[in-house]
Amino acid sequence: MMKQTRTKPPRRHAPKKPSNQQKDPVGVYCRVRPLSPSDQECCIEVINETTVQLHQPDGCKVNRNGEYKETQYSFKKVFGTLQTQKDLFDFVAKPLVEDLIRGKNGLLFTYGVTGSGKTYTMTGSPGQGGLLPRCLSMIFNSISRFQAKKYTFKTDDKNGIEIQNEVDALLERQRREAQTQVATRTPMRQRMVEPEFADMINIEDNCNVEEVDEDSVYSVFVSYIEIYNNYMYDLLEEAAIDPIRPKPPQSKILREDQHHNMYVAGCTEVEVKTTEEAFDVFWKGQKRRRIANTTLNRESSRSHSVFMIKLAQAPLDADGDNVLQEKEQVTVSQLSLVDLAGSERTNRTKAEGNRLREAGNINQSLMTLRTCIEILRENQMCGTNKMVPYRDSKLTHMFKNYFDGEGKVRMIVCVNPKADDHEESLQVMRFAEMTQEVEIARPVDKPICGLTPGRRYRNQAFKDELSRRLEDRGGPVNGVDEQAVIEMLIQSFPPIPSCELLDVNDDMTLPQIIEALEKRRRIRQMMAEEFNKSVVSFRGMLHELNGVVNAKDNLAQGRMSEKERAIMSQKSEIERLEKKVKTLEYKIDILEKTTTIYEEEKRTLQNDLESQSQKLHRQLSDKRRLESRINGMVAENAVKWEKECERRVAAKQIEMQNKLWVKDEKLKQLKAIVTESKGDRPERPSRERDREREPKVPTRSISPSPAPTVPPVHTRHRRSRSAGERWVDHKPSGSLETDTVMQPHVPNAIKVSVASEKALAKCDKYMLTHQQLASDGEMETKLIKGDVFRTRGGGQSVQFTDIETLRQESPPGNGRKRRSSETNRPPLAESTESEWTDVETRCSVAMEMRAGSNLGPGYQHHALPKRRKP
Ligand code: ADP
Ligand code: MG
Repeated sequence: MMKQTRTKPPRRHAPKKPSNQQKDPVGVYCRVRPLSPSDQECCIEVINETTVQLHQPDGCKVNRNGEYKETQYSFKKVFGTLQTQKDLFDFVAKPLVEDLIRGKNGLLFTYGVTGSGKTYTMTGSPGQGGLLPRCLSMIFNSISRFQAKKYTFKTDDKNGIEIQNEVDALLERQRREAQTQVATRTPMRQRMVEPEFADMINIEDNCNVEEVDEDSVYSVFVSYIEIYNNYMYDLLEEAAIDPIRPKPPQSKILREDQHHNMYVAGCTEVEVKTTEEAFDVFWKGQKRRRIANTTLNRESSRSHSVFMIKLAQAPLDADGDNVLQEKEQVTVSQLSLVDLAGSERTNRTKAEGNRLREAGNINQSLMTLRTCIEILRENQMCGTNKMVPYRDSKLTHMFKNYFDGEGKVRMIVCVNPKADDHEESLQVMRFAEMTQEVEIARPVDKPICGLTPGRRYRNQAFKDELSRRLEDRGGPVNGVDEQAVIEMLIQSFPPIPSCELLDVNDDMTLPQIIEALEKRRRIRQMMAEEFNKSVVSFRGMLHELNGVVNAKDNLAQGRMSEKERAIMSQKSEIERLEKKVKTLEYKIDILEKTTTIYEEEKRTLQNDLESQSQKLHRQLSDKRRLESRINGMVAENAVKWEKECERRVAAKQIEMQNKLWVKDEKLKQLKAIVTESKGDRPERPSRERDREREPKVPTRSISPSPAPTVPPVHTRHRRSRSAGERWVDHKPSGSLETDTVMQPHVPNAIKVSVASEKALAKCDKYMLTHQQLASDGEMETKLIKGDVFRTRGGGQSVQFTDIETLRQESPPGNGRKRRSSETNRPPLAESTESEWTDVETRCSVAMEMRAGSNLGPGYQHHALPKRRKP
């Protein structure tokens, strides 16, 4: 039914259409009809060329904000009430007609509720021809000069079109015309279009397609189908008309042709040659439709009407004289104009019973159309492959090929702005907007036929030239029919009178015959002369022509040889270039090979480089790892060794101290023995032994001192305290400041950092500050005090008398760290009162040390805490 071209493969088994095929959306246009006088409220407003706005009628529910609800819809173009039928045609249908003539299919349908102007748009009204008559007019305007004689194209019953030769076409013409004349008693051409609608085809503008293939011949076939209650009826079927006793029309079925196009089997296709003829056919169908509707009590707004315009075209043969007699060369395209049933829901027309059921079915077909479009859209948008239910209704099944990409699809939605239609108009708008989102593959261009273009005009020009020349020479004009010329000539001879001699004395007849014959002889002579003259002139003409031809020939030959020479030189040039190309190719080959070799080398070198760098990298990281390990080890060892040293020093100190105490003990015992041997107990030193001093810091706790046995103190050379003692305050460099509560205070002292005999000579008291880390980790400061004596040798000696220990510790059971000053009480130590404020003295040590060499090791020992310097 659709398109049938010479190259088209059967589609069912053909590979799927490439996805990159160009697609166009379904063109959807909106037409707003004017409000009829009976309606007051207008609910549709055209905003601009592409947008309409719908607002709810008065009295309708307003939305929550108290405003009327307004919705806008956009289309490819919106036609308002001021736009004419021509405007609509130019914009919507003209491109479809152009496509039709270029061999492509088109589908145009009007959609909307009853009374919205679908039929007005499609068919028109008197003086306001709609799209259908305008399409017909444009088609015939475009092809009129190239139309094939009737019955050159002949439809078969399988949706195909065949070509008949001229003789067969002529015979069929005669036969059909005779039949029609018998049937209607009027010649076919004389039948007139109904006056009512004569105006509709009176289309003022002679628009036509500009680029029509002039080397083809064309024929138009029309058919008209009505779909009602999902049955298809042929509105052009002759048998159907019987206004007196109408019988229900036979419904038709849909079939698929060999190219998988759908067609209505057995549907009448009328070949038409003019707009009038075509419209007459349409109008006949329209009349039948009306009769059927009234006689069968049908609602006309519930049926779909489909008017199909089929255009067959075939190329002229190489001479440009006759149609090429090849069926495969025939291109068939079709434009379907569909006036759909009203899209309103059933309850609107208050249909009942049978009509309701039928109406339901019609609604069903529009529903199916909506569903198909929805699914098509979904498939395209989501990339799904859902089956489109074309087969669910005759309407969609019939046009399935269009939606599958066999042509352009355009839809005009018609709306009536009246308030009653508002609800339905919203539905229509929604469907229309959705339809716009469906894309349809652009039909491919018809393949170009292999014959040279311009055949028709060359043939025409040849014929014209021939007749002109013959006319010039007095020959027959227009149409060189030899038989006619001969007949004409014979008729121009004077008639021969009757040769019957009835009377012997008849002397009239013979002379008459002689005269007539004489006349004829003269005419013949004249004609012979004329003929000879013609021959001579024709010969002259031929000669002339020959001369011209020869001249042309010579010229052509000259040109030919010139061209040949040029060709030869070009050939040699080509040869030279070819040789050059070959050598260059050879060089390229060599270079390519060298390149590959170099590249290979480069690759191996790169690989080497890579492996070397990897190795280097590895080594570097190894080195780094080793270094960090060594560093760690060194630091660890240093710390370990430091700790070890400290530990050993502390141990040594304790050991030394112990030894010192042991020595002290021994000394004391010795002293005791000495005193005992003297027989009287020595005077107790002036210092109070067990005096309990009031602590200056209230938090300080003083442990009660055991009553020691105090060793005697050598007081020989000691200056009295009142005289003002002078002290040597020996603080080895690096000693830290103690932050004990009680601080040593030595007034009038010479501060030294190394032992100095000079300082000792000037003083009579000596104090050494010695710091060390106690076993509990706290810093312990010892103040070792003694008296300075002059030795007989002239040197200085110090007798140590007192050791005070200052240390800081947290008292047990008390979370807070408290500063305290406490004196470690050595066993056997005698409590003495120190010269220093806040210092409790608990021991008195008599120790004599020689100054000089003896002093050295003692100081060395005390110098150890220097290492604690932060
Ligand atoms: P439908 O086919 O949609 O049921 P019709 O085409 O029969 O509607 O239109 C109903 C009436 O409205 C007709 O009388 C028609 O002449 C008129 N009409 C429709 N559209 C227009 C229009 N654009 N301009 C003028 N009259 C219109
Ligand atoms: Mg209508």
